[in-house]
Amino acid sequence: VSLIKPAHAEASLAGEEGGVTERTFMAIKYDAVQRGLISEIMGRMEKKGYKLVALKMVWPTEEFAGKHYHDLKERPFFGNLVKFMSSGPAVAMVWEGPGVIKMARTIIGATDPLKSNPGTIRGDLATSVGRNVIHGSDAYSTAEEEIALWFSPSEIHAWNRTNEDWISS
Ligand code: ADP
Repeated sequence: VSLIKPAHAEASLAGEEGGVTERTFMAIKYDAVQRGLISEIMGRMEKKGYKLVALKMVWPTEEFAGKHYHDLKERPFFGNLVKFMSSGPAVAMVWEGPGVIKMARTIIGATDPLKSNPGTIRGDLATSVGRNVIHGSDAYSTAEEEIALWFSPSEIHAWNRTNEDWISS
């Protein structure tokens, strides 16, 4: 068996399937903070190969939580959602990497943990839609909007990873 990688393997690894490098917003919700699941959740994104470029603990006000979830204002659960989100600190994060917006949603699983596949964060760690441990932006436009709502530009760090080639070449 040859240990020398053929040129086409190199090309396909770097090819179209690679995905565009982008950023997404994620927040570990207060239920997961209470349950000691911060490192478990962050570890899944880190091990996948995504790069953490911003991180802080934020205790949202009801007004701030309402802004974050403004799209859901008319939903019957909005009041409870905003109360829950402002009941304690969340861990706010920006993750960067190829196709991270869509892949983070895949890693998170479906909104209802009982409909999330095992192997996903919600599928493995939660049973209730109101206590589903994690938020992740659902599209490029919401990622942009949510990153700007939760972080100032100076809190986001464009750092270089020395092992980058082993993850995304
Ligand atoms: P996601 O967080 O998967 O993007 P949504 O944006 O639809 O889902 O909803 C935001 C959050 O509102 C959910 O993560 C969940 O915590 C809560 N939520 C959604 N649907 C319900 C529901 N039917 N009852 C209670 N809470 C809900």
